[in-house]
Amino acid sequence: MLALPTACRTRSAEPAGVDPARLGSIVQTLASDEYEGRAPGTRAETKTIDYLIGAFRALGLEPGGEGGSWTQAVALLRTQVGAPRTLDVSIGGHSRPLAQGEQVFITTVRNAPQIDVRAAPLVFVGYGVTAPERSWDDYKGVDLAGKIAVMLINDPDFHAAPGEPVAGEFGGRRMTYYGRWTYKFEEAARRGAIGALIVHDTDGVGYGWPTIIASGGESFDLAGRDPAGQLALRGWLAHEYAATLFRDAGLDLAALRVQARRADFRPVALNVTLTADMPVSVATTESHNVLAKLTGTARADETIMFGAHWDAYGIGAPDAAGRTVRAGANDDALGVAGILELARLFSAGPRPQRTLVFALWTAEERGLLGSTAYAEHPVYPLATTVANLTLDILQTAGPARDVMLVGEGQSDLEDDLARAAATQGRTVTPEALPERGLFYRADHFPLARQGVPVLLLMAMSGGADLVDGGRDAGNRWLEAYMRCYHQPCDRWSADWDLRGAAQDIELFRAIGRELANSQRWPAWRAGSEFEATREASRAARGH
Ligand SMILES: [Zn+2]
Repeated sequence: MLALPTACRTRSAEPAGVDPARLGSIVQTLASDEYEGRAPGTRAETKTIDYLIGAFRALGLEPGGEGGSWTQAVALLRTQVGAPRTLDVSIGGHSRPLAQGEQVFITTVRNAPQIDVRAAPLVFVGYGVTAPERSWDDYKGVDLAGKIAVMLINDPDFHAAPGEPVAGEFGGRRMTYYGRWTYKFEEAARRGAIGALIVHDTDGVGYGWPTIIASGGESFDLAGRDPAGQLALRGWLAHEYAATLFRDAGLDLAALRVQARRADFRPVALNVTLTADMPVSVATTESHNVLAKLTGTARADETIMFGAHWDAYGIGAPDAAGRTVRAGANDDALGVAGILELARLFSAGPRPQRTLVFALWTAEERGLLGSTAYAEHPVYPLATTVANLTLDILQTAGPARDVMLVGEGQSDLEDDLARAAATQGRTVTPEALPERGLFYRADHFPLARQGVPVLLLMAMSGGADLVDGGRDAGNRWLEAYMRCYHQPCDRWSADWDLRGAAQDIELFRAIGRELANSQRWPAWRAGSEFEATREASRAARGH
């Protein structure tokens, strides 16, 4: 299936476009039962990686990984909390039990055999946000040593009424990075807390309590982190329970919620302590990113990176149809197929001046871990990584008149996207549900945090305006897809029409080709959370 076309083609001619049939064929293979849902660290990983390396090799690419290899090792830590031996809160000296999974949901990513927190005071820290560029600091220097930070999900203006002073400072309904639970846990650890609990609210996080507890207490992180820099426990308080707990502590959560929308909010001690003694089983596994490259002809140390994730959810409980393999056909075997198509087309066409890197990440579904490992230990310096272009979930319902932009206002790569779309006679549509924070939930994001300008194509951000059936048909496709998201029914189907996905991948081909033959450095827009980080490495780009 990956054999190169034989018909009359010279190496310097621009090959024809992304081939929907090739995309489908690659997905059909990777999402077949043989690949067992591509879980990291399993025999399915070996099989998947062999396939991917074989494909890159057949396409004439160079190994792009560590030490001239095709891969980068990624050590993963898996933690599983067990049934609590003790889990309770104490209010004014009266202790009462806490129900794990009902009132609270506690996990950890610290490499230790148990969670052992004794009578740790709870401190409400509003939204738990430190945003110097917005002159915002919810912590106000509060001492959190030995304490548990309790905070709200999303960012300070998410629930603000129009006209409130804060409205719009954090993008209004649009979620900023500060709204993500990942950020909140990291920031609480930086502030010295031993634990952090987020008050769940379906609207604010974008999903209900059943999704919060669906992990069953299993968590993943990169292995080798310093336990001293990590929270002993992290988790969620169920909304109703949190309101009761605050009331029993003589506080009004609803009123504090409003106070937390102001920059002059100050942390409030709850006069409640929490004790948790829970067993944790810990294991490490070795996984791998796959990296290939085409070395540039003129400025080889400047790289354009294309990325997708090869992993999916492996084998799980049977669905209603008895299927156990969560094949991740769309998420993200289709993205992987897109990267392989880009590799094929660039390899067959004229070699660009800058180097092209094709990255297939592991453990995206475990928390963006493969791309995070790369961002912490880059094979190609991030300061001279021109852009990261990521594919994660494309629509399979045919050609579209538009393309969805995730993370509007972040970088001038969105101008590149609009230009490329215009040459296809298409327009750019901002994501329909920016409060979901999709911009912070794919593999481009760890690169963005390190300052690399990024662009993500993800069809989950709203229904496309399909040539056949318009926006309604696009929304129907998305609704149907969301029922299969992370489920066994995210499977390859002969009914897929991949012409729209091919169009989207062509956008990356056009943007990548232009960047790879220019001396331009795309930049973050003023006010982006990532602008300052990029700016700090300006000298490395010689401008
Ligand atoms: Zn994905």
